[in-house]
Amino acid sequence: MKILMIGAHQDDNEFRCGGLAQQLVKKGHNVRFLSLCNGCGGHHILSPKETTATRAKESAAVAKLLGITYDVWDIDDCSLVADLETRRRLIRYIRNYAPDLIISHRPNDYHADHRAAGQLVQDASYLLIVPNECADAPAMKDTPVIMYNEDSFKNPDFHADIVISIDEEIDTKMKIADLNVSQVYEWLPYTYHEEVPETPEERFEWLKGMDITAETTDEEVMAAARGYLVRFAKTAARFRKELLDTYGEEKGSKVRFAEAFELCEYGGTLTEELKHQLFD
Ligand SMILES: [Zn+2]
Repeated sequence: MKILMIGAHQDDNEFRCGGLAQQLVKKGHNVRFLSLCNGCGGHHILSPKETTATRAKESAAVAKLLGITYDVWDIDDCSLVADLETRRRLIRYIRNYAPDLIISHRPNDYHADHRAAGQLVQDASYLLIVPNECADAPAMKDTPVIMYNEDSFKNPDFHADIVISIDEEIDTKMKIADLNVSQVYEWLPYTYHEEVPETPEERFEWLKGMDITAETTDEEVMAAARGYLVRFAKTAARFRKELLDTYGEEKGSKVRFAEAFELCEYGGTLTEELKHQLFD
């Protein structure tokens, strides 16, 4: 099967569905990341050109680690708009790859690029099967399943239709975070006024936020202020009920790290068979 994860920026797919990406690759599926923006806006010292080049190298390293294909479009950060030209570019791109599943942002989000990405996917969804739209790219026979990755926005609240344990993928997911040096050790700490330790070992510990063990409670996780290990544990704590429903009391209560996805009602049907192939 083919799975297309569409993020506005290089780090969106990584942090929201990097665990699922690795699971799918391990199962023998073909996974592709698309970043609609080129990353040029995300640095306080490097020029836009330098930042784009740096991000491209980091994304290539992520692709290698995960065993996926990674495309980055040439649209500048903070310039993504859900206009007709970009919609048609996306329709052609999706048809060309013909994925079974697409995962992207919800269109209600703090970041204009995330909103535009979600809107573009929604706008493209029905048109994927319409032959007279972008007639030069053969239309798909069926609309792929479309899902949104997790966010914390409340109006409306994110609804977790699928929650998966990524306990076995957490080391890889932290490695992915660590590979995004210009993002997690430079740009984001600058925006949050955070001090980053000097050595690679110290800064990786810092990146985690805190150690999460079998004894760590959901309350402790939710109370923790920062860190990527904490962030991935928060998804498990936030959707503990869904994890118990999915895995049963015994296993569900032990899941430390998770990823969550909401079904987009404009996509194809997530049949039981597809659900089993993709998420079990
Ligand atoms: Zn983003």
